[in-house]
Amino acid sequence: MRTVIVFFLFVQLTYAQSDLKNLQGALASSTIMEKDLRELCDEIGGRVTGSEANEKSVEWGLQKFQEAGVMTWKQSFKVPVLWMEGASTFSISGDIEFDPLAVAKYQTAPGDYTGKLINVGMGSESEILKLEEQLKGNFALVSSELCLDIDGLFAEYTQAAKAEMALRKVGVKGIVFMASRPHKLLYRFIPTKVTENDLPQFIMAREDAQRCLRTLQADKELTFSTTVHAEIGGAFTSDNVLAEIEGTDLKEEIVIIGAHLDSWALGTGANDNGCNVTMLINIARQIKALGLKPRRTIRFALWNGEEQGYFGSWAYTKQNLTNMDEHKMAMSVDIGSGEIIGLFTNGREDLVEVMEDILSPLELDTSFALINVPIIGTDNFDFMLQGIPNLVAAHKPASYGVNYHASSDTYDKVDFKSLSKNSQLVGGLLWLYANADDDKINLPRHTRSEIQTMFEKTDTEFSMRMFNVWESWISAERGRK
Ligand SMILES: [Zn+2]
Repeated sequence: MRTVIVFFLFVQLTYAQSDLKNLQGALASSTIMEKDLRELCDEIGGRVTGSEANEKSVEWGLQKFQEAGVMTWKQSFKVPVLWMEGASTFSISGDIEFDPLAVAKYQTAPGDYTGKLINVGMGSESEILKLEEQLKGNFALVSSELCLDIDGLFAEYTQAAKAEMALRKVGVKGIVFMASRPHKLLYRFIPTKVTENDLPQFIMAREDAQRCLRTLQADKELTFSTTVHAEIGGAFTSDNVLAEIEGTDLKEEIVIIGAHLDSWALGTGANDNGCNVTMLINIARQIKALGLKPRRTIRFALWNGEEQGYFGSWAYTKQNLTNMDEHKMAMSVDIGSGEIIGLFTNGREDLVEVMEDILSPLELDTSFALINVPIIGTDNFDFMLQGIPNLVAAHKPASYGVNYHASSDTYDKVDFKSLSKNSQLVGGLLWLYANADDDKINLPRHTRSEIQTMFEKTDTEFSMRMFNVWESWISAERGRK
């Protein structure tokens, strides 16, 4: 009997290993992501949630899964407000006159605005308080460090949020942020109140903002004027695209992986996040084509409404509350096409141990890192608030940071060699997780108080406030009750 069991286990193990090898082999030799991404970025283009292009991308996603023979469906949800910028105009007058390049931040109300431009340096609270009287009813010019990589991005988000919070208190009419990117590159960014923003905010091309700054530093006076054009509206319906490979003996259990379909529309959303959309579609396609049957159900999510506050993934957790316990792991891939060099385990020490074990057959480089800090700002977030073990892929910076949300986030910036490698890693990881023995991935769903303790331990409140999600967690509007 014992020999039989050992033999049986051996057969099962080799079988699972050959499935893994076959899947990774198919992903390695596939070049279809290039074609898919060209369609998504070049033919459909930028995909702001609520736009026609975004709706086209939903149909495109459904069609891709259908063509692969993978079961797929739409999941509708509400986005609270619509905002899409049109052709806003900007001018500087006073001691010098020119028309700077600029864009409005999300939820800046359409209309005419004018006011003096006041230099507040990097926008620290002490700098702002010194200028309190001058700032009332005027525009603050906030300088920035050059941002060339992802670390620069985190620093920029933090600095901008702190400046905005301090400037709101002194009653400014609006804020002009110096763009952090070189060569007059413009990009879109959310304000701290996101959908509830009521303060006009702009990003001015770095070179133009520096021209203003030098002029102000020479004791000259400048007035900033703009006419903001934007299509706005109330709540509207958007859709996630879901697809799944049904499991076998543990099919009630779900391993979910997502990448967001929507983007801002200055560029065409290639690294953020079209590349990873095509990666997930291709993993599903190859699993199906090989006829592989995972033990647990693998669910693929092309999230929508991510950029405005991860509305699609939030809605998913709300609509799946009754089977949330069956979600054994939720993963997000949203940091471009640079090589994946680790995983964020989002404040769960127990998940670090599980992942070390799960990943071992993949024979990853010893430098592959499990980084146990909570990532706020993408679609893992509402799963974290539900206490579900969740992962976010950590990538080499590649060209992600400098092109982030910018007009330059286009197809040509995608590193397809890394994307292919990433697809083998992510496909392998998913396969191993979906087939693991129960005792290997036996992680409890965290309770509300365990989640709160994790936030306190990891000092996450400021990041959550920066993305306007702290209050909704505290009031239990969002997350586990
Ligand atoms: Zn993204």
